[in-house]
Amino acid sequence: MTFSEVSGHQRPLRVLQRVLASGRVPHAQLFWGPEGVGKELVARALARVLLCADPGARDRGEGCGRCGPCAKCDGGSHPDLHLVVAQKASISVDDVRRLQETLAYQAFERGCKVAIIRDAFRLTREAANALLKTLEEPPAGVYLVLLAHHRNQLLPTLVSRCQALRFDPLPEAEVLRLLTERGVEAATAAAMAAVSGGCPGPVLDADPEEFLAADREAGEVVAQWGRQPAGRGFALASGWAADKDRLGTRLDGLERHLRRRAREQAVSHPADADGGELDALAGLTTLRYLLERNVNAQLALDALFLGMLGHLWEEGP
Ligand SMILES: [Zn+2]
Repeated sequence: MTFSEVSGHQRPLRVLQRVLASGRVPHAQLFWGPEGVGKELVARALARVLLCADPGARDRGEGCGRCGPCAKCDGGSHPDLHLVVAQKASISVDDVRRLQETLAYQAFERGCKVAIIRDAFRLTREAANALLKTLEEPPAGVYLVLLAHHRNQLLPTLVSRCQALRFDPLPEAEVLRLLTERGVEAATAAAMAAVSGGCPGPVLDADPEEFLAADREAGEVVAQWGRQPAGRGFALASGWAADKDRLGTRLDGLERHLRRRAREQAVSHPADADGGELDALAGLTTLRYLLERNVNAQLALDALFLGMLGHLWEEGP
């Protein structure tokens, strides 16, 4: 991935190219913005420039694309580019210590190392405190990029030691362009772009038909707010729990529609904006947390839909 291949994000890209040219790339950065918006792609493009063997790469703000390190970055095999991802839903203190040991060794090439921490909000408190030490005094030539959906998700002590860069959702037209480039049929691509929220990641990875079906279903569930018997909620929970392959797409759809409804409520009825949507969104976060820990899906979904009782479902049979 190169900066010129990144879609949108002109503002953060300009900032990064400016610091690259000035030779003052911050050793700890936080890229924050919604899931699937493209933060990791930009972090990888930055790593490619930092690790490129061409001395002019930083001035140009782009890796040469011809040297060994560029090829290794493109192939995902550069020994000085480290990606930290959560194991079992959290990033533990052991994960951070392993990273610190790796960063303490001399770099294989070019004398610098880059570590990207995906979903840094998954750092446990102990892990975050361990990482603080590296952020305060990074070893020479080490660059850390933390990724998160929102800066408020991280401990303030972590955020204050990072140069934070915000990533905004892309315009719908840009997501549409990316989808049609991938060969998605025009009407399907338009429908997907319209519900993408400007985050191309999830829609580009999805099966178009499955994505739109799940989105329609979630839209119907939320549109029928308060007009359904409770039994319908439990029937839905059983159906969703039984189809694990589609559960993630369905929950994503539910979250999108709940967020949209919460936004619409806040605009149209600001006095009683929380008609339960925020509770439902919090319930959804808990549900995902439980599912990642292999809690019985049926029980977790029952709890989610029970939590929506009185908002989404009418009490009674
Ligand atoms: Zn290169």
